[in-house]
Amino acid sequence: MADVSDPNLLVGQLGLVGLALGALWRLLMWVRQAPWTPDPWDANLERKLHEPDAVEVCHHCFDPRTTDGWFCEHCGSAVGSYNNLMPFVCLFSEGEVLRNGVEGKLRASPLVIAGYLLISLSAYTFFAPIYWIFFFRNLIRPKRPAEEIETASPG
Ligand SMILES: [Zn+2]
Repeated sequence: MADVSDPNLLVGQLGLVGLALGALWRLLMWVRQAPWTPDPWDANLERKLHEPDAVEVCHHCFDPRTTDGWFCEHCGSAVGSYNNLMPFVCLFSEGEVLRNGVEGKLRASPLVIAGYLLISLSAYTFFAPIYWIFFFRNLIRPKRPAEEIETASPG
């Protein structure tokens, strides 16, 4: 085993720190030089989005938002601008996310699955495995034809 005061070990550690700093510098330069990606929509749609008579819609049911409330009047989804920042209302947003995990349509990517497992573990602690049963049952259930069309579309 190497001695702690071994000068070769110190040089090796300095070399590793230098490599890590160099890799961090390359990463920062790579991010700074990355090209700006254009919006997925065209300039006409971008202009329409910023018109004064543009209407906000619910992200879940596309019902026009007529009030400045926290929840959609049609489907109950959390649509308020600051729902996730208010401690009490945030609970309803988390509940909506967890409910979508067991009832809604999910994109079954490893990141989504890991996110659901972690958020349910933090929300339900010892009872999380019960949630996981319903979550995985929702993941493997056969999709209805309308859902397959929605999930097959890009974006
Ligand atoms: Zn809605």
